[in-house]
Amino acid sequence: MECPICGSDDIEILNSKQKESKKKFMEEYLLKCLDCDHVFKDVFSAKKPKMYRLIISEQNRSHKTSIELSPSDELKVGDILLSDIGQVEVSSIEVNDTRVKKSIVEDIDTIWATSVEIPARIGFSVDLHGEVDSYKLDLERDFKIAPGDIVKIENHIVKVHVIKTNDRKLTSGFAKAGVIKRVYSKPVKFNNFDYDLTSNIFKKT
Ligand SMILES: [Zn+2]
Repeated sequence: MECPICGSDDIEILNSKQKESKKKFMEEYLLKCLDCDHVFKDVFSAKKPKMYRLIISEQNRSHKTSIELSPSDELKVGDILLSDIGQVEVSSIEVNDTRVKKSIVEDIDTIWATSVEIPARIGFSVDLHGEVDSYKLDLERDFKIAPGDIVKIENHIVKVHVIKTNDRKLTSGFAKAGVIKRVYSKPVKFNNFDYDLTSNIFKKT
């Protein structure tokens, strides 16, 4: 900001008032130029945040949601936003049926993004009567595992017995991968299973 009389930017704020209308935040300042002593008012305004359509692709699924953004901001491909399912990276921006690399938020119809949440890394033990096959698995943080689940992992079909989370041991209920430390399982003589975690193996130890 500068003085409208002498152009100096040596300005002191004497007073400020905040106002809010339906669509805008406004801040009214009473200012004094320290070079020529001129006193003047200035108003700064910003549009209020609004909800925008956000489509997040996460592995093989897509998740439709919305996100609150300030219409006067600029958004570009590669920006990181905090959505209701965690951090996402903007992959495309749709304005008037056209995909663009950046835009003023106000003009945006849809934001396309990919999840950049770090997967949960959990331990998974298969008790082979004395020997243990131990795995590290990468799972989506909201993937649910329950005691009693029948799981395929490599050539084993196992039943989950105990789930150790950050603060307790579960033998019933379920836990999301985001809080699981380790799952303990034992082989069962079944051919069917609830899910296969083989492709989630990060490392076998
Ligand atoms: Zn001045």
